[in-house]
Amino acid sequence: MNHTLLQYFEWYLPEDAQHWDRLIRESSSLAQIGYDRLWLPPAYKGQGGRSDVGYGVYDMYDLGEFDQKGTVPTKYGTKDAYLRAIQTAHEHHLEIIADIVFNHRMGADGKEVIKAKEISWADRDEAISDEEEVEVWTRFTFPGRNKKYSDFTWDWSCFTGTDYDARTKETKLLEFYHKQWAENVSQENGNYDYIMGDDVDFSNPKVVEELYRWGIWYRDLTGIDGYRLDAVKSIDAAFFPGWLNAMRQESQDNLFAVGEYWSGDIQELKAYLVKVSYSMLLFDVPLHFHLYDASRSYDRYDMSKILDGTLTQEEPQSAVAFVDNHDTQPGQALQSWVEDWFKVHAYALILLRDSVCPCVFYGDHAGIPKDGKAKVSFLNEMVWIRKHLLDPETIEDRFDDPHCIGWCVQSEHPIVVVMTNGWAGVKEFKLTQTSEMVDITDPSNRISLEDGKGKFLCKDGKCSIYISKEDYEWMKEDLKI
Ligand code: CA
Repeated sequence: MNHTLLQYFEWYLPEDAQHWDRLIRESSSLAQIGYDRLWLPPAYKGQGGRSDVGYGVYDMYDLGEFDQKGTVPTKYGTKDAYLRAIQTAHEHHLEIIADIVFNHRMGADGKEVIKAKEISWADRDEAISDEEEVEVWTRFTFPGRNKKYSDFTWDWSCFTGTDYDARTKETKLLEFYHKQWAENVSQENGNYDYIMGDDVDFSNPKVVEELYRWGIWYRDLTGIDGYRLDAVKSIDAAFFPGWLNAMRQESQDNLFAVGEYWSGDIQELKAYLVKVSYSMLLFDVPLHFHLYDASRSYDRYDMSKILDGTLTQEEPQSAVAFVDNHDTQPGQALQSWVEDWFKVHAYALILLRDSVCPCVFYGDHAGIPKDGKAKVSFLNEMVWIRKHLLDPETIEDRFDDPHCIGWCVQSEHPIVVVMTNGWAGVKEFKLTQTSEMVDITDPSNRISLEDGKGKFLCKDGKCSIYISKEDYEWMKEDLKI
């Protein structure tokens, strides 16, 4: 079974509270294309109410059920629609991967006066003031929910620091009285525990207990099948192995989990996998940067090395390869958008090889109206081929030229991929199972094999994907194209 994950949102979806309904309508066709996992956005109420993409977490027990932050539904819809969407997806054998944002909380209900030190943004180990009184937004009582599901209230002791002193109305990085940033985090800026909002203190046992309680409540209520863990490089690495283990034991299920550790440094990612005892996979950020660089360098990029130093190559069982996401899309914090001409190349590299669970971005699947981005050509076809034809055990590679690379999959359903970033190129392969191969990106381009041998052409700067003419007819009928 070749898994394919779809990140079922982009940053600029309409704020219409209709996304869960959209999923209900589209589940059947997503399954038909060949997806079997969907990563849904954070489903709980954010401080921005209906316009919050989901990362400004306010109340994790409010899945669009309570009148909080000016709205009952979230950006994506109501709790009832969410539960219906999950049920519908399940009916179509689509697993639901939930986005879990534990690092921070935002939009507190009340302020507290405490002592804190001001910290240097550039070096988080350096205090630039003595402890002094500040007034911080750290009390979360959730009056709109009125203690339904949980009576846990958050106060300053649940957090390590924040970035705003209400007394002086100044934005500054504050570390609370007798608190210390967690040690088991990224060493960026000295210590990258803090990102934004009120930084959750994972050394506080009552906080940890509450996150376990919430996790069990959430899984029991929704029946989700796995997790996408946000910002893991800013959370104590000791937390997740235990939490995931508890969720897996409780559900009697080996729940899928992938962490977002945003670093292009392969060694840092490998070290993190060891720290968390391989309890999760990681997004292959180094590969994303290779795809991005290749797309911007045209024929100056050495394509024969495009997979070198990636998680996909070095830790294939722990890699979730992706091309772009809601953070790398135009206008976002980590903007590093893989250029349009290279998208088919990039998706062929992650979908038509031996990645264990590549992830397709909704903005590539459906387009991004805000930026006038069209959906990526032949993406549905590649996902379909992955599901129906690809045997990842039998790949024969030809990463032997800086400007033209290719591979073939030798099986009952052969696949040949040839891509260039400069002039047209040709790769020769010998196949045993068929007589004619069709390039799905240009069906007039057909290769007749002689004794199984064929010279597979790819035009300037393109990516050609060949399958047998019988499989091509099957695909056209199945996808109705
Ligand atoms: Ca943190």
